[in-house]
Amino acid sequence: ANALSPEAARTYELDRRHVFHSWSAQSTVDPMVITRAEGCYVWDGAGNRLLDFSSQLVNTNLGHQHPRVVEAIAEQARRLATVAPQHANDQRGEAARLIAERTPGDLDRVFFTNGGADANEHAVRMARLSTGRPKVLTRYRSYHGGTQTAINLTGDPRRWANDSGTAGVVHFFGPYRYRSHFHAETEQQECERALEHLAQVIELEGPRTIAAVLLEAIPGTAGIMVPPPGYLAGVRELCDRHGIVLIMDEVMTGFGRTGAWFVSGDEGVVPDLLTFAKGVNSGYVPLGGVAISEHIAAHFAERPYPGGLTYSGHPLACAAAVASITAMEDEGVVGNARRIGAEVLGPELAKLAARHPSVGEVRGRGVFWAVELATAAADVMPDLVGTAKRLGLLPFTNANRIHVVPPCTITEAEARDGLALLDQVLDRADELVAR
Ligand code: PLP
Repeated sequence: ANALSPEAARTYELDRRHVFHSWSAQSTVDPMVITRAEGCYVWDGAGNRLLDFSSQLVNTNLGHQHPRVVEAIAEQARRLATVAPQHANDQRGEAARLIAERTPGDLDRVFFTNGGADANEHAVRMARLSTGRPKVLTRYRSYHGGTQTAINLTGDPRRWANDSGTAGVVHFFGPYRYRSHFHAETEQQECERALEHLAQVIELEGPRTIAAVLLEAIPGTAGIMVPPPGYLAGVRELCDRHGIVLIMDEVMTGFGRTGAWFVSGDEGVVPDLLTFAKGVNSGYVPLGGVAISEHIAAHFAERPYPGGLTYSGHPLACAAAVASITAMEDEGVVGNARRIGAEVLGPELAKLAARHPSVGEVRGRGVFWAVELATAAADVMPDLVGTAKRLGLLPFTNANRIHVVPPCTITEAEARDGLALLDQVLDRADELVAR
């Protein structure tokens, strides 16, 4: 159906009159009205049901409207809706424990923020204060958030208009075999050359000026480039050699997305600071944070940490995190994501890649996959997004890629339904690219 219900038409009209949208020229914004959602599905303003292969902004790891999380928020709202961060609160303490138990190594303390960008802001502040050094190295092809430091840490074109020049950020190239910056022909070459490149950047920038290397465990929005075996461990080694803090941004990869609680733990690499948000409570209430290692926490044992937020560790957000992590554990959600990736998405996407000439590469793990078109141009994407939505599939796209990032709770049948629709979207891509 195409016609919006009268209520949805009113929603659309109010949005267009009063809501200022992210990352957009306001006159071009044309939002889809969403009226309800459940599990892996959302309903638009005309009553159409769409399979959510985007998890919104890759955050509803537990799917929509999980009853245990919804009930925990309602129950907490009745009991104690808000409390300032200086007071102790049961849900905050419990959320911190559950997170600390799942992060690798000695990341045992949690500083809570409102989302991922401010988590990265604070992680960088902790690294600079604890080392007394100014610079941070981050990757080209990365996304770290929309606030001033975070957007300057980011290595995608959204940084350009926000470049402050004073952010003290230096960018480097990470491994990306499909369009290798290092002319590598194997994964191993890509790994060795990417590490050699980073070693040179550190050398030439001056190791003693570098507070931190900050990187996404697997770059998400920038293309889901799974690092070759040994890369993350190699970065850890370089950081150790020079006394540089390793910050792993697991905002998108954390809490089941890749079929593990965290990529760092899965790969046996312990960062000094780990940032999270999104899947920590599936975004039912905004929450992010920094998990802090013992030695960085110790730096602030006797001197004050100069940072805070009114809503740090908000009880509604933390109650949602406790319920969400507990539900993921009880319902085997992380294992489900791993199995769906290994048995359904991985093999079936490989078949789609073989069948559709428009597809250049598919890559990923768990419920975290990118379908990269062979063409580097992104001009066909609006058409493909429109095609997908008409078919009943809500995709996540960036540049020349369609990301397959459904909730970690997706069933095999739902995943196969979505792939069948994606197959049709790629038929359209074949037509457009061959044109
Ligand atoms: N870091 C990564 C890897 C992200 O994917 C995102 C958001 O997409 C962020 C940080 C920023 O998080 P937020 O939008 O909650 O500030």
